[in-house]
Amino acid sequence: MNNLTIFDLIGKLSKYNDAEINMVLQAYKYAEYLHKGQVRQSGEEYIIHPLNVAYILAEMNADCDTICAGLLHDTLEDTNISKEEIAEIFGDEVAKLVDGVTKISKMNFSSKEEQNMANTRKIITGITEDVRIIIIKLADRLHNMRTLQYKSEFKQKENAIETLDIFAPLAYYIGNYRIKSELEDLSFMYLKPDEYFRILDERNRIEEENKECLLEMLKTIEAILTDKNIPNEIKIRTKNIYGIYKKMAEGYQMKDIHDLHNLKIMVDSIPNCYQSLGLIHQAYNPVNNKFKDFICCAKPNMYRSLHTTVYSGTGQIVQTQIRTFDMDKVASFGLATYWDLNKGNARHEMQQELRNRCQFMGSLMEINSMFSDNTEFVQHIKQEVFTDNIFVYTPNGERIELPKGATVIDFAYRIHTQVGNSMIGAFINDEFKPVDYVLKNNDRVRIVTDHMSYGPESDWADKAQTTLARRKIQEFGSIR
Ligand code: MN
Repeated sequence: MNNLTIFDLIGKLSKYNDAEINMVLQAYKYAEYLHKGQVRQSGEEYIIHPLNVAYILAEMNADCDTICAGLLHDTLEDTNISKEEIAEIFGDEVAKLVDGVTKISKMNFSSKEEQNMANTRKIITGITEDVRIIIIKLADRLHNMRTLQYKSEFKQKENAIETLDIFAPLAYYIGNYRIKSELEDLSFMYLKPDEYFRILDERNRIEEENKECLLEMLKTIEAILTDKNIPNEIKIRTKNIYGIYKKMAEGYQMKDIHDLHNLKIMVDSIPNCYQSLGLIHQAYNPVNNKFKDFICCAKPNMYRSLHTTVYSGTGQIVQTQIRTFDMDKVASFGLATYWDLNKGNARHEMQQELRNRCQFMGSLMEINSMFSDNTEFVQHIKQEVFTDNIFVYTPNGERIELPKGATVIDFAYRIHTQVGNSMIGAFINDEFKPVDYVLKNNDRVRIVTDHMSYGPESDWADKAQTTLARRKIQEFGSIR
């Protein structure tokens, strides 16, 4: 927002108590005093930047410490104040947050040199300490990307690449689609302006074409749900430019992207999500293979929703996403939603949730412990953690997350080293397959082992996709 003032920020704090509002006010005055005389490249007073960062955080209902840290986030680096002084005035928590953000800000992720790889490693493993540091850093990056027009062309490109490489995936992993999409589109606009505006125009044209049909469906579904006394709100959602670009790079025509526009249907409870699904299928024929239940199987970044694609009856096919109002908050803000849903101990809950999603955190920590070499570490993280994943199931229905392209070998070593070392193949949905079979989403996998096995074949390491499996196979080879 341009010309933002402290009153706009305070306007966002209606749910905070008087003491908290006062603390934010003091943090603002202090930051303004410390940054006095500094100007941004836009010519504005410097304070406008931390104020915007705090505003973005307040939009997420961040806790008071986080908003204060947002206001003070550049003071350690750009002014004479020390961490101890911040701690004395605003408390240890605020000081720790500001210090954490400062450490990340000093890193340079764009070069491929060893030092920078070490930095990347620090930020990635740093999210295990206090995820609020990452959220502040994302808000900081978002405002910088929104005001990138004042930087040199070189800086614009450098920042855009770094944002696409590191910050947008981080936003995705903590479930913050809102920030992820905006960061992606801003980066893409600076990296490939011609394509950006070409896609934007085309998207607007198709939107215009489909508008009538979408509005018609919106009204029909609204009437059906209201008739059944299901409290609802329905919105038309449009895919972000960079998301469209990636789909088109896979060979899709824009008009064939089935979720280019979709209807986001929010209702009050989970049972009503399923009832709405049934009602929608009664009114519109579903496209057979396009139904997904992310309510019972949430994505690892917490996203929950029912997806079904239906025929509009007038020639279009339209994706609908059905979820509760709370799930919709999670879909927009991810982990940060804990501030909103769970005021009491949100900070603790957020860290806990990160730890519970142990498949992501687990593989991250595992890879961290395996590599002393930072370049290798970053490569593996990008390959395995910041990549598309598939879900497969054990015979008991336990869900295992693996990177796209993973084979039976990766699955077996994920279950147990001994299972990996002694397997001879696997039943995939009741069909026997060799160890190098590439797993597909939703495969049910039952490993067959030979308890007289001599151990893994030497070529298994090449057929595995995950660091864990390769490392275990090599370890076995070295003791043989
Ligand atoms: Mn900043």
